Amino acid sequence: MYSIIGSGIAGLACSYTLSSFGIDNEIFESGDTRTANNYGIQLSPNASHVLQKMGILNKLDPNMKVINSIEIYSIEKLKKLITLPVNEFVTKNNLTNYYTVSRNILHKELLSSVISCNTKIKQDSKIKKVEDLGNKVKITKQNKSTDTCKKLIIANGNSGSPIFDRISCSPIKNDFTTYRSAVKHSEFPLKINEDTVYLFLGNGMHVVVYPYFEDLINIVMITKNNQDTIIPNSNQNIENITAFLSALEWESWSLYDSKITLNFDISRPIFAIGDAAHSIKPHLAQGASMALEDGYTLGKSIGGEITTKSVHLLMSKRQKRINRVIRSSSLNRKIFHASPIVSIARDFFLEKTNSRKQLDSLKWLYGYKV
Ligand SMILES: Cc1cc2nc3c(=O)[nH]c(=O)nc-3n(C[C@H](O)[C@H](O)[C@H](O)COP(=O)(O)OP(=O)(O)OC[C@H]3O[C@@H](n4cnc5c(N)ncnc54)[C@H](O)[C@@H]3O)c2cc1C
Repeated sequence: MYSIIGSGIAGLACSYTLSSFGIDNEIFESGDTRTANNYGIQLSPNASHVLQKMGILNKLDPNMKVINSIEIYSIEKLKKLITLPVNEFVTKNNLTNYYTVSRNILHKELLSSVISCNTKIKQDSKIKKVEDLGNKVKITKQNKSTDTCKKLIIANGNSGSPIFDRISCSPIKNDFTTYRSAVKHSEFPLKINEDTVYLFLGNGMHVVVYPYFEDLINIVMITKNNQDTIIPNSNQNIENITAFLSALEWESWSLYDSKITLNFDISRPIFAIGDAAHSIKPHLAQGASMALEDGYTLGKSIGGEITTKSVHLLMSKRQKRINRVIRSSSLNRKIFHASPIVSIARDFFLEKTNSRKQLDSLKWLYGYKV
């Protein structure tokens, strides 16, 4: 029996995969899983591949948007710099689709798959501390009650303060703020295609816009704080958009640069997955995708490997991929938030670059098979 802390994307993907290998598991969840935030998520082909392996992609497909292309614009000039033909790339490489989806829909489908396996989800179980006692693991809840288990998977997301002393995390607040909103398609001041992700690059800020559910479009804006050169070459179109964006209701939160280090004893069946195990900047849209890959890979490894050591070994090999995703997200952040001078060079490069080659350079990411 495995105990899992957290019924987010990683925890549920892992639970369902364990169950499909006939391995009993239970989940401790701090909140009410029905109240998961509703926002849009981009699911790149590596993530939809995991959902296909889990056998739930077909069920989700009717409620997701299939993305045909990613269009990148200069926000100052409101000029298209490049179109990345995602669907062509997917077809050429025989991959599953690039989707956008409501996080609630994805979460609901994962949850109902887990419930269909009769897995017990212990609600209102906020775990405060995990202690490895050598032959068993002690779990202390916030209400001070305790539980023990033999095998544990920590999937409690990015809570900032780890619950297990073998996970260390050093969050440093950076100078970026994220804003997120959703509007009806008809209300957005620019023409938006149902099958396109739009990335607007400015100086020290970028905006991502995409349809994700019914007639809703998701807007995420990340800005560098204290930078007032966002839109220097203003024109009427841009003023309209600025006025529109200013009038929206935004959720906002500060971003932290966290370095998470796992120092696990490989003889012990204790693992961490998803945001609890690594911190990925949002500039490559891979947080949920890595949570799905992690959850499935760990579940499958436990199902297929004989020893705890070999499962740890497989998961530490996976760390190389995670590190590459972290490096690429960090590089994207530099590119997306370039200074005014560098952004001129960036926009020039994007206009001249071969879009197919750009996508081919991401084959390691999108073409990955679990
Ligand atoms: C606005 C926004 C847009 C995003 N867009 C994308 C995107 O386009 N593409 C992408 O791939 N990713 C995206 N992400 C990131 C993605 O949502 C996360 O990386 C992903 O949800 C991580 O999954 P997880 O299972 O590790 O953690 P979570 O989904 O955070 O789940 C953690 C679970 O653990 C529970 N929990 C927490 N603490 C405890 C505790 N102490 N005890 C018990 N239970 C606990 C929580 O209630 C939750 O259910 C986005 C995130 C945001 C906020």
